[in-house]
Amino acid sequence: MTNKRVTLDWIKDLVESGDISQFYKTKTWCELARRKRKAEHNECERCREQGRHSPCEAVHHKKYLKKYPELALDYDNLECLCADCHYDEHHKREQLNEERW
Ligand SMILES: [Zn+2]
Ligand SMILES: [Zn+2]
Repeated sequence: MTNKRVTLDWIKDLVESGDISQFYKTKTWCELARRKRKAEHNECERCREQGRHSPCEAVHHKKYLKKYPELALDYDNLECLCADCHYDEHHKREQLNEERW
C-alpha cells in the first residue's frame, strides 16, 4: 500500500499508460474499498439480490474507471461483486462493445 495522494490528473495518467494497478495500491482506495466491503458485509450485491450469499471478491466501479476517472473515488459508484459476477460484468460489456464496433 502507498500513501500517494490520489488526484484526478494522476488517475488519468495511469489510465493513459494502460496500467491502473498503482491506483488500487493507494491507501485512499484501500480504505474506501474496505468501507464499502464492510457496509455490504463483504458479500456480492448481485448475488444477494437473488437470495444467494457469495463472498465479495472485488469492489467494482459501476461506471468504469477508465471511462470515468472522476468517479474513481465516488462511493456511490462502487459495487461489491463476487468473482463470477465480476467476470460476467466485464465479459458481457466487452461483448457488447464488440457488437457495437
Ligand atoms: Zn455474485
Ligand atoms: Zn470491475
